Amino acid sequence: RLEIKNLKRSYGGRPVVDDVSLKIMPGQVTCLLGPSGCGKSTTLRMIAGVEMQDSGTIHVDGKLICDTVFRVPPERREIGLMFQDFALFPHLTVAGNVGFGLKTGTKAERRARIEELLERVDLLRFIDGYPHQLSGGEQQRVALARALAPRPKIMLMDEPFSGLDNRLRDDIRDETLGILKEEGTAVLLVTHEPEEAMRMADEIALMRDGKIVQQGAPYNVYTRPIDRAAVAFFSDAN
Ligand code: ATP
Ligand code: MG
Repeated sequence: RLEIKNLKRSYGGRPVVDDVSLKIMPGQVTCLLGPSGCGKSTTLRMIAGVEMQDSGTIHVDGKLICDTVFRVPPERREIGLMFQDFALFPHLTVAGNVGFGLKTGTKAERRARIEELLERVDLLRFIDGYPHQLSGGEQQRVALARALAPRPKIMLMDEPFSGLDNRLRDDIRDETLGILKEEGTAVLLVTHEPEEAMRMADEIALMRDGKIVQQGAPYNVYTRPIDRAAVAFFSDAN
């Protein structure tokens, strides 16, 4: 379970994340939805630990991960990342890529986890292949297996599907979120497309100018927009 409270970040005196609070439960997908520049990626970077907040706290399963004085380094946060630029390591095999973040266990245990995940994304036959031998969608699934390998409690996804063509994107998106739900991962998915949020989210957090202006089940957010700007945002995009 991920809890962020009162997160704030300014650049050059301008607040870009302005008092954001969110709670995400295991097996749930929360979509952080909002127009370009509203502060979505900055929020994710702070949760990932690659950027420091000015104030506010982050907890994972009730344990403090970061406040303004204390901070767990990114690699020890049990948080997985999938970004649009999901680049695999070209010089490593598929197995090497998937096993990259696996630091614990014996060699045999790590190999078993790699095989289990590749089976899951239906790519076991490519285990000794290299990224350039795979299609974009296949690479995306390897990236998913890589992100899942260390069993993160939280998965942060920043428009990870936007580089794929439409049909492929729908398939991979459904498959990916299905696997994450099965694993009981708490997912925070960033998107600027209302349609994607409507389809994937258990909960939508609508963000504008650094603030979460509305939060709730997709149906409620869509049918009862908080203000005119929210109406415009939902209708413009359709
Ligand atoms: P998009 O949908 O286009 O990806 P976003 O919601 O992810 O947008 P952010 O990347 O979080 O937006 O950026 C929020 C604002 O903060 C933008 O106006 C951006 O220009 C600004 N910003 C982001 N990073 C920095 C930085 N390192 N230095 C200065 N300004 C920044
Ligand atoms: Mg962004």
